[in-house]
Amino acid sequence: MKPAEAENKARLHVEVSGIVQGVGFRPFVYRLAKKFNLGGWVLNDSRGVVIEVEGDDRDLGSFVEELRASAPPLARIVQVKTSRAEPIGETSFRIVESVSREERTVLISPDVATCDDCLREMFDPDDRRFHYPFINCTNCGPRYTIIRDIPYDRPNTTMSKFKMCPLCEAEYHDPADRRFHAQPNACWDCGPRLILCDADGNEISTDAPIARVTEMLKEGLTVAIKGLGGFHLAVDATNDEAVRRLRARKKREQKPLAVMSKDIPTIRRYAFVNEVEERLLKSFQRPIVLLRKRQPNPIANSVAPRSRWFGVMLPYTPVHHLIMRGDFIALVMTSGNISEEPICFENEEAMERLRGIADAFLLNDRDIFMRTDDSVTRVQQSGQIILRRARGYVPVPVFLKDDGPAILATGPELKNTICLLRGKEAFLSQHIGDIKNFETLSYLEKTAEHLKRILQIEPEAIAHDMHPDYLSTRWAQEQKGLPLFAVQHHHAHIASCMAEHQLEEKVIGVAFDGTGYGTDGRIWGGEFLVCDLSGFERAGHFKYTPMPGGDAAVENPIRMAVAHLYQIWGKDTRDLELKALETISEAQLRVLFRMLEGRINCPLTSSVGRLFDSVSALLGICDYASYEGQPAIELEAFADEDCAEAYEWRIEEKDNLVVDSSVIIHQVVEDIQEGVPREMISARFHNAIAEVTAEVCRKIANKTGLRKVVLSGGVFQNMLISNKLQQLLTRSGLEVFQHSEVPPNDGGVSLGQAVVARNLLKKRQEGK
Ligand SMILES: [Zn+2]
Ligand SMILES: [Zn+2]
Repeated sequence: MKPAEAENKARLHVEVSGIVQGVGFRPFVYRLAKKFNLGGWVLNDSRGVVIEVEGDDRDLGSFVEELRASAPPLARIVQVKTSRAEPIGETSFRIVESVSREERTVLISPDVATCDDCLREMFDPDDRRFHYPFINCTNCGPRYTIIRDIPYDRPNTTMSKFKMCPLCEAEYHDPADRRFHAQPNACWDCGPRLILCDADGNEISTDAPIARVTEMLKEGLTVAIKGLGGFHLAVDATNDEAVRRLRARKKREQKPLAVMSKDIPTIRRYAFVNEVEERLLKSFQRPIVLLRKRQPNPIANSVAPRSRWFGVMLPYTPVHHLIMRGDFIALVMTSGNISEEPICFENEEAMERLRGIADAFLLNDRDIFMRTDDSVTRVQQSGQIILRRARGYVPVPVFLKDDGPAILATGPELKNTICLLRGKEAFLSQHIGDIKNFETLSYLEKTAEHLKRILQIEPEAIAHDMHPDYLSTRWAQEQKGLPLFAVQHHHAHIASCMAEHQLEEKVIGVAFDGTGYGTDGRIWGGEFLVCDLSGFERAGHFKYTPMPGGDAAVENPIRMAVAHLYQIWGKDTRDLELKALETISEAQLRVLFRMLEGRINCPLTSSVGRLFDSVSALLGICDYASYEGQPAIELEAFADEDCAEAYEWRIEEKDNLVVDSSVIIHQVVEDIQEGVPREMISARFHNAIAEVTAEVCRKIANKTGLRKVVLSGGVFQNMLISNKLQQLLTRSGLEVFQHSEVPPNDGGVSLGQAVVARNLLKKRQEGK
């Protein structure tokens, strides 16, 4: 070394935080250090990646620059902190073993779809992993679902029981190898293996389990297949009889079933795919994407009856890729569970709970530690929205504007997720489900414990729904010693969207959904709020309508429709000569009238979701809801999208603004009686809802001077409504905020609860 150069030596201490573990960050740093001729070391610790580099001053600068600019595809750098250190003459670079520290603020990678490099190897007959069903590398494979604890190293995952063979071990320790420190690294000799069992759980001895499964599927049998986050039930999607049998066994009547196809050209045979949708389908998250059906198409009608959409995904594990070579147009790949229960994830559990549903089980001996469903997304005018946030997205945080105390939010009753806040990060859990039974409640509990451990979060307060009877509320109340904050459901909806867009100022919030407990004890769901993150005022709502029989009116939307008719015509309702009314008997109608007249078991609701249900029932589109939201979803599917006409509407201005839905229902009935096509009626109804909503927003904006409108709630999964409203509000000079990373439905509510509770706690701590 020349003396002049030695004088220029400098040393940097670098700390990188974000998603930097389990994503090939250390090998990337290693190669970068080699490139710039730097000595030093890199290690994972519980806060992220720590690096020390020594060398030429200018090279150090370039090193840090490139560190930020060209990080591996799965990494997400939140912060790079550098400080000067004393040079110690280090000239070689090395990777140091992980150290466990008390503080665990590291971010953990979600599960990642099999990458192209691994696919090439898997289909290369000369490769030692030819057809190996658990191939993975630093850039792909299981992550969140196999981590037991952090730091993310093999002993802390469910891969700990597999001892790497010498070849795998060599790859794992070679910084130049693409499997360097790939924690789930494995091969035919040392890794997990497939196990095929018959319907009774007896192992079928075969050296070609994939080929056997392919045959079974071709024969129309149902196979339970263990995937990344749980089991799928697979069946040939072009075989109507097979799909019907699966539905009957699974007790899933009409809800659309997701399908998987091997590539985009195959998907195009039955659905339309635009560029944005294609990118989303191929993204490493590999979500289910809702795609518009092509008509006619080769998919069995029973896959998604009465829907305009198919939920489609591409293969994301090696096993999927191997099975899809069986030349299927599509396979149904639906969550391996019985309706209402969480997805199965353990071998024994699956064989017990799916007994009688699956004709065979394709298992493996790699355990899933944290069960996680497939994510569901859709592309609309405002961009991509996530309808169910789970595999591929969890546990990537939503980044908040402000710091504050750690909070746990237990979410609502339906489509539950929980949420943990830590500093500026909000961690929404994977989709947990409807917290109506012991199974889902214990899944919630396990998820909360797990996230608290791996993210090292000790909540200072707990947020929950205002509804006193929800199991998620009761569970919150059982957690002793922490302050509790009850957050109103629709306020939480708006707060979740505000958090996503880092809004803190007062906004106009429009929260439309099916059900949420209101501050007056009534069932809200058509709400106009003026709110910020700590409180809200109800500036307007849809008119209260009785719900005869409460929840029974959700399942049987015709009951809800009768309630609407009764508000206009009273007992003359029976003379309306509506075909929809023929679905209930004269006796039933009399009972309904008596209930409505005496207000017996008729809670009041302002729900827009229920209004959609009523119109759907009146049009004879859906008179029985086999899943939440079905009538509204089918009503949307019926609408003539080219029709711009709208029904007239009326807003009553009392203490606050009340949208009188009777005016709209009146015109719906007139149109039905005049024989107007259902497509037109549905369109006029949708347009009227969008218009009246925009008008209420304008009125509130004029009164308050607020210009920002935030839209949230399950109704905004309705593309017609959200697109139209976006246009109308924008045209009025208002700024519109819709969801993208966080679900508009109840899956996002826990985030809103958490940020509201944090704000209230902060105020309390500041003595305000
Ligand atoms: Zn890979
Ligand atoms: Zn091996």
